[in-house]
Amino acid sequence: MSPSRTRTFVPCLAFMGLVACAGGDLPPRASLEEGEAWITAEPVAFGAGGLTPVLSVPPFDGESVSLWAKSEPGTCFALASLDDAQGRTWVSQREAGPYCTDCRVRTSLAQEEALIVLTGGEGFAPGEGFAVRFGLMDCETLTPTGTGGESRLQLAWLPRQSIPERGHLSLRFLVSQHSMLFGQPDRQRELLERLNDELEEVGLEVTLEAAAELPDAPSETRFWTTQLAGLSALLEGAPPALDTTVDVVFAGCLRYDDPFFGPPEPVNGFTPRVGGGVGPASAVFMPGLRCDSFGGGPASWPLGTYAHVIAHELGHFLGLYHSVETDGTADLLSDTNEQNIMNPNPSRVGARGWSPSQRRQILSHPWVRSSLAPRPRTP
Ligand SMILES: [Zn+2]
Repeated sequence: MSPSRTRTFVPCLAFMGLVACAGGDLPPRASLEEGEAWITAEPVAFGAGGLTPVLSVPPFDGESVSLWAKSEPGTCFALASLDDAQGRTWVSQREAGPYCTDCRVRTSLAQEEALIVLTGGEGFAPGEGFAVRFGLMDCETLTPTGTGGESRLQLAWLPRQSIPERGHLSLRFLVSQHSMLFGQPDRQRELLERLNDELEEVGLEVTLEAAAELPDAPSETRFWTTQLAGLSALLEGAPPALDTTVDVVFAGCLRYDDPFFGPPEPVNGFTPRVGGGVGPASAVFMPGLRCDSFGGGPASWPLGTYAHVIAHELGHFLGLYHSVETDGTADLLSDTNEQNIMNPNPSRVGARGWSPSQRRQILSHPWVRSSLAPRPRTP
């Protein structure tokens, strides 16, 4: 796809009408800074080998770019290649599993929709332009597949000129009756303060845009990488989502139920995909009950510990992987070691602090805005 076949989204809306513009699909919500706009490409089909054609993102004046890719419900896909303008390869193939561990630029498997924020660093400069291909994945086995029927993929990108010094992010708390925060606005405010203490070092400030009760949340919710119906159902019980606001759901007991490796494991927090903001169950989920003692009512976690885990989960939502995965695979950020808040067990002693690369990644997410001015509305 050549630059001449790309177009900015806003004029397209104004002059061509919504449906003609993007086949009825909108790029996701974003906190657009002045002069920013999504650029959309013509939709493409997954063809031979389950791969799309090569899609080129032309050079742009900026430090980071958000890529939005959308297919149909029930379609899983992953980044299959990423080559920069100098011909260097950063991603060479689809890797089995929920995310790529070996890729020089790490990305996650997407279900229906993906938001991938490329910030550069480690030698990759997205502003010089690059080319990507996506490939189909089997939603059940999380492995590459060559057969996808009629699935199509639409790509849009949002270049960002500079990464802000500090960023602001809106949150909404969705509180079930199982949570120690239920009916406790003072405790919710204190949690927010503790969360801001955790995020201070990385230059992010969060504000509570709204809080709502989640009626009838089950005492236990089970889920897996691509089996998110239980988590989606929790969100369906909430008032409609707010623009560019991250939902933090305080549920009952949460169990990660891997169909290949049992038994279901309780989790201290869960974010369905690294790079949140699109796709099913896009939120941060926190347990309210301990899975082993339902009878005792809401578990009372110390607020500081709880805030630390939420900060870790927000890190995932905003694009961060673990500093080392549980199988020993290290993150590829050269300035980020294991002793970091993105340790897979954030409650561990020493799992504190953020690195400069993590800061760049977090502040580049399109929902993070550089000032506290009212957020411009996106279509
Ligand atoms: Zn984690």
